[in-house]
Amino acid sequence: MHELSIAMALVEQMEKVAREQKARAVPSVTVVVGALSGVDAEALAGAFPLAAEGTVAQGAELVITPACASVRCRACGQVTTPELPFLRCGGCGASEVEVVSGRELYIQAMDVEVAGEAGGE
Ligand SMILES: [Zn+2]
Repeated sequence: MHELSIAMALVEQMEKVAREQKARAVPSVTVVVGALSGVDAEALAGAFPLAAEGTVAQGAELVITPACASVRCRACGQVTTPELPFLRCGGCGASEVEVVSGRELYIQAMDVEVAGEAGGE
């Protein structure tokens, strides 16, 4: 399952950040998923708890921020949002376009709970 391996990669990155910040828990994480990334947000949300099990990311709330696709037209030069699944210029309809954005998949933000931060000794 494609999304499970992506979820595992995300959890790996979260563990790395958590280690660096000496976090003991990650209450929530915000992930940007581009419209052209090929990732199904729902499937990713379903796979995430499985990938997070037994890690610092366990129990984290996964917030998915969809990122729109945009393309630059080779014919008229406009940057438009294509009507997916067709990659066409929204201005003149040409299919000679270059993808400007929409392929992204990354952690935008992550909350961490640091040991000893709340309550004190
Ligand atoms: Zn165009």
